[in-house]
Amino acid sequence: MHPKLEKVLQETDQRNPGEPEFLQALTEVIESLDPIIERHPEYADYGLLERLTEPERQIIFRVPWVNDKGEVQVNRGYRVEFNSALGPYKGGLRFHKSVNRNIIKFLGFEQIFKNALTNQGIGGGKGGSDFDPHGKSDNEVMLFCQSFMTELYRHIGHMTDVPAGDIGVGGREIGYLFGQYKRLTGVHESGVLTGKGLGWGGSLVRTEATGYGQVMFAQFMAEDRGESLEGRTCTVSGSGNVAIYAIEKAQQMGAKPVTCSDSNGWVYDKDGIDLDLLKEIKEVKRGRVADYAAARPSAEFHETGNVWSVPCDVALPSATQNEINEEDAKTLVKNGCKYVAEGANMPSTPQAIDVFQGAGDVSYAPGKAANAGGVGVSALEMEQNASRDKWTFEYTEKKLHDMMKGIHDDCLATAEEYGKPKDYVYGANITGFRRVADAMLAHGVV
Ligand code: NDP
Repeated sequence: MHPKLEKVLQETDQRNPGEPEFLQALTEVIESLDPIIERHPEYADYGLLERLTEPERQIIFRVPWVNDKGEVQVNRGYRVEFNSALGPYKGGLRFHKSVNRNIIKFLGFEQIFKNALTNQGIGGGKGGSDFDPHGKSDNEVMLFCQSFMTELYRHIGHMTDVPAGDIGVGGREIGYLFGQYKRLTGVHESGVLTGKGLGWGGSLVRTEATGYGQVMFAQFMAEDRGESLEGRTCTVSGSGNVAIYAIEKAQQMGAKPVTCSDSNGWVYDKDGIDLDLLKEIKEVKRGRVADYAAARPSAEFHETGNVWSVPCDVALPSATQNEINEEDAKTLVKNGCKYVAEGANMPSTPQAIDVFQGAGDVSYAPGKAANAGGVGVSALEMEQNASRDKWTFEYTEKKLHDMMKGIHDDCLATAEEYGKPKDYVYGANITGFRRVADAMLAHGVV
């Protein structure tokens, strides 16, 4: 590896103790920059790599609120504004008990390159809280969101930083957050958040965008090999926003998704997932996948193990980070899996990625490329807000399709250019890096 890259890795390791996921995400990107630094040593100059690996701003704040029993609760809120070279910081908010600074920094770092890949003029950021929405009443979620926004509102704006949803933050939470922002500022500033309701500034296709884009990406990988997803068996993890719309798009393309999961267990449905039933249970009743299995004779529920033991042609991880380890990857490959398109952020461990890439006939798309459709359509939502326009579903989905095709083709072209043909990891990292690095060099040392 180029000595400058090694030095940056060593220094970031020392400067960020106790942040394993951040260092994992950072190492994956830095390690793939060797070919571009060899060819363009200027990217190793001007402190560019040191600046790129240090967030521009990190905000950590107390979020006090009162639960339905009248007890005071205290959570911690985060917003990491990582890089604004290409545009306003953009990235979701995650509400999950596992959230800490490490998790938000890993997600914010990934977001920089993902957003660059979309070509939509957006920088990278991420935020969230260790608040756990499971089992909370609507009232409790609202009070938490209001308290969270009472600090966050000072740092965001449609030209500065534009949050959206992520794990635990969907349409309900974005509504409460937007309401409090409007109340505090006195401004109906549509472009300050994305993932809004359709009646008050939201965009058609935003809800579907991440899962749809992920499956479109898998389809482009198949087309590149002269194949298609039609008739293929897919395993999907998760049962939230990304998973549900990955299942929907896969079904539209004639594939057969047979699994889903949540943190209590997973479902195998030999007849293929009944999407109406899954949506009813997860989106309307806020239930569990065990309820799905109980209502569907062809489905089995498992409390142990995971969906990756089910033979498939296409794996669509759509739950959370590091959910596919080396053993899972070996099982997938042994069972004949040919395509892996990540909907979640960093769902495969580095060892699992090595297994996929070493297998020879597995096309592997990292999350920052395959799940970029979500933030891509968020940028389209900002565009509609700025122009006070509303686009149709078909028009917006076509834009998403073209964006995903552009990302796919850019990754392949860059991988080829830098001597790593068909390697989507190199392709995504180098394409994203080059765009951000060029802007940072143009802006001087800031
Ligand atoms: P949701 O909260 O809608 O759904 C998350 C799903 O994953 C749930 O089924 C949840 O189960 C499960 N899950 C979460 N954490 C764990 C865990 N630690 N162990 C097992 N299961 C878990 O989130 P999204 O669908 O929005 O996000 C899923 C992934 O996609 C995340 O990695 C996110 O960062 C990524 N992503 C999301 C985008 C978006 O537009 N929403 C855009 C790009 C990436 P349970 O309900 O039991 O917690």
